[in-house]
Parts: sequence; C-alpha cells; structure tokens
Amino acid sequence: MTTYTLTQASNLLQSKKISAVELATEYLNAINARNPSINGYITLNPDATLAEARAADARIAQGNAHALTGVPIAYKDIFCQTGWRTACASKMLDNFVAPYTATVVQNLLDAGMITLGRTNMDEFAMGSSNETSFYGAVHNPFNTQHVAGGSSGGSAAVVAARLAPAALGSDTGGSIRQPASHCGITGLKPTYGIVSRFGMIAYASSFDQAGPMAQTAEDCALLLNQMASFDERDSTSLDRAREDYTSQLNQPLKGMKIGLPKEYFTQNNSADVQAALENAKALLQAQGAELIEVSLPQTELSIPAYYVLASAEASTNLSRYDGVRYGHRAKEFANLDEMYSNTRAEGFGSEVKRRIMIGTYVLSHGYYDAYYLKAQKLRRLVANDFQAAFAQCDLILAPAAPTAAPKLGELNQDPVQAYLSDIYTIAVNLAGLPALSLPAGLSAEGLPIGVQLIGNYFAEAKILGAAHQMQLHSDWHTKRPA
Ligand code: GLN
Repeated sequence: MTTYTLTQASNLLQSKKISAVELATEYLNAINARNPSINGYITLNPDATLAEARAADARIAQGNAHALTGVPIAYKDIFCQTGWRTACASKMLDNFVAPYTATVVQNLLDAGMITLGRTNMDEFAMGSSNETSFYGAVHNPFNTQHVAGGSSGGSAAVVAARLAPAALGSDTGGSIRQPASHCGITGLKPTYGIVSRFGMIAYASSFDQAGPMAQTAEDCALLLNQMASFDERDSTSLDRAREDYTSQLNQPLKGMKIGLPKEYFTQNNSADVQAALENAKALLQAQGAELIEVSLPQTELSIPAYYVLASAEASTNLSRYDGVRYGHRAKEFANLDEMYSNTRAEGFGSEVKRRIMIGTYVLSHGYYDAYYLKAQKLRRLVANDFQAAFAQCDLILAPAAPTAAPKLGELNQDPVQAYLSDIYTIAVNLAGLPALSLPAGLSAEGLPIGVQLIGNYFAEAKILGAAHQMQLHSDWHTKRPA
C-alpha cells in the first residue's frame, strides 16, 4: 500500500483522504513486515512517531498546514533529534540519545513532517557499501544478496522498499548519490553551505552536506525548499536569499547544453552503466538538449586528494569521542591514557580506525606539506576543471558509480577497491558543487542504475528541472523491488 511519492502523500493529506495518523500507521506496519529483510531502519519509536502525527492532524484540522504537514520521513542516523538515539551507526554512540535537534530536522519538523525513524549507514558515514555499520549491513531491496550502497544505504533502501516516501542522507564523497543509484531512487547533494550542518554528526566538515532522497526530483525539490536555510550555528552556512527549488521544474530542455566529460565515459564502466548513460543521453536529446564533450582532466587525482583530506578532517572531528563526555566508555582501565585508548579501541570499527590513522599521519609534522597541503592544492585544481567545463555547458551528465550494486562482501575485503569506486562522485564534493542521481536503467540482473546531473554552484533548480523533465518522459524512477 505504501507506494506514495512524497507529492502524492501530501495531496492525500491536504485533501483529507487520509489522516497523518493513518498514514504513519500504514508505514509503521509496512516497516514491521519488511524492514527485517533489508535492515534499513535501526531505530524506531512508534509512540513518538504517532504523537507527531496526531499534532499534524490537529494542525491540518486548524487549517494552517504546510504542504509537508503529516508527510512521513526517515532520517539517516547522523541527524540529531531530541529524544532519539542518534548513533551514527557506531558502537561509540550506541547509548547516545540526542539532547538537541539538527537545524535541517527542525526545519522539517516546523513544516509538520513526521519522523519514522533513523536509518542505517556506514559507521560515521565512512564507506561505500553500508557494510561498516555497527548494526550490520543494509540489504538492497531489489536483491538482498547485494549491497544498498553507502554511506546512506539505509535511507536509500527504505525509500526504494517504499518504507518511507522520502529520507534525508548526507553526502561527503557521494553518500547520497551512490546509494540512490544502487537502489533506484533520486537523491540530491546540494551546493556546500546551503543546508545547515548544525546537529549533523561531523565526518569531514568541509565536505559534509545533507540532502533529500525520494522517488522523484519533484519530491527532492519540495524537500530542499524546506531544508535550506541560513544558520548562524554553522560557520560555513551561506547567508543568501531563499530560493524556490521547484521554479524550473516545468522548464523545457530545448537548447540546454549537457557536457559529457570524456574521462567519465570509459571502459571502466560496466556495460550496464554504459547502457544507462545511453538511455539518459537519448532522453535528453529527444527533448532538445544538446550534448557536447567536455574534459575534467584531474579526475583521477580526486580520489587520493579526497581520501587525504576527508581522513584528516575525520581524525580531528572524531577526537571528541574520548569516553569522557558522552558515548561509549571502556569498563577496564588502569589510568586516564588507558581509558582513552581502550574506549577508542572498543568503540570504533576498523574502517573508522583506518581513517583516523591515515588522517593523523597526513596531518603530522613532517608529512603535512607532502600530503595534506598537496591535497588541498589538488582540490583547487579539481574545482577549476569544473569551472572550465561550465564555461561550455549548463549541466554535466555523469555515471554515479562504475557498476551496479556489488554483492555483499565484495567491496569490504579491499578498502582501496572501495575507495576507487567513488571515482564519479568525489570530485563534486571536492569542488562543493550540487549534483543529483536519478535512475536511468536496470542491469542484466535487474538492479537499478543511476546517472548524475552535476551543476555549477547554486544550480539546484536547474538540475532538479532537468531531472524532472527526464522523469516526465521515462519510467525508470517508478521501478520498484518485487
Ligand atoms: N565513500 C566515501 C567515504 O567513505 C563517501 C562517504 C560519504 O559521502 N559519507 O568517505
């Protein structure tokens, strides 16, 4: 039953065909029945969900509802919300109940959206397959032998399995777009700075950005309208006029120039991914868009640059988990130093430890210039590549990942292989640009494949408009698991 898009759910509520309590109850029942096979949700609190739904019904009855009032949403386990356990899928925070609410969550609560629960993710958002979670891997709803992608794998899987009409994810190096691609949904990583990071547990602060994940681009636009805001509690929040991200949804694509980076259309992509790219190209061309070749020459360097910088920032951000103020504390220790080291040895999983060690190394005296500083310079070159490309085109079409979702266990054997699979998403984060992943095909095995539309700074409305036009003329985004 729970197959609604966010827009459909909103219409049903506004026209009083369903109440917020009825809708939330439908979703909670569906979650009970189907979540165990995908492990998408890791924290539920039906009493809190239904209390929010009752308040939404009262607001609708009073006649002062927002379009999103009563619409349920799922939050990646990285977004704090008062009274909810927010663990970032780590043993370190397994006992942490948030005492405050992230700005982006508050913005959605202010509109009257209903919290369904917290979704599974890679521990501290470090990973590409959602297999590093303390709570176990997420299973792809299209085929439970395969991963859902990461790190926002739970958010992608619950939207794909129709256990939420929409979800929030966070994207540091691709964590919204890649799982969206693997699960057949639409996900947007906004321009860095337009959505507040306050209350979103930090991984790599100069990259982290929250974004919407839903069935359609139209739904993502409606969510982003409410998510984006200036926030003085986030020092990199951008103070700019509010924008209507739905404003270009009905703009025809005639004459739009779409850049195809030659470094992205290579033999490294699986045949299925190439076919999805061809589908997207044909769709765009059929509506009058013009395809041109562009070049992003530093593409290969974006992976080493990102893994140096993101690990450096992670090692700094994660130093706060010391067993003193909150989170896990080791039971056995002889002195303070041992309390710190035992706490961190027990509380963090191996991927998180690997990042902390890389980050500490590249920041240490003697190596800083060789690694951290050099990576910062590469970051600038990567951003310059995009500016040169956007002098020639309006949007860039790109793969979201080199393959469809791998089998469980395939990627977590070899961390370097996992890092390399981020090749098409990471440069966008280095540059701070907006990009969206939308479904554009199915693999031979029936797994979804997404493609990205990348825009220049603040081009969200243009990206969402182009994606919406593609979705009006195709049905890849309507495919769902059996
Ligand atoms: N796979 C990348 C990483 O592990 C991206 C993660 C993310 O975007 N949160 O760092």
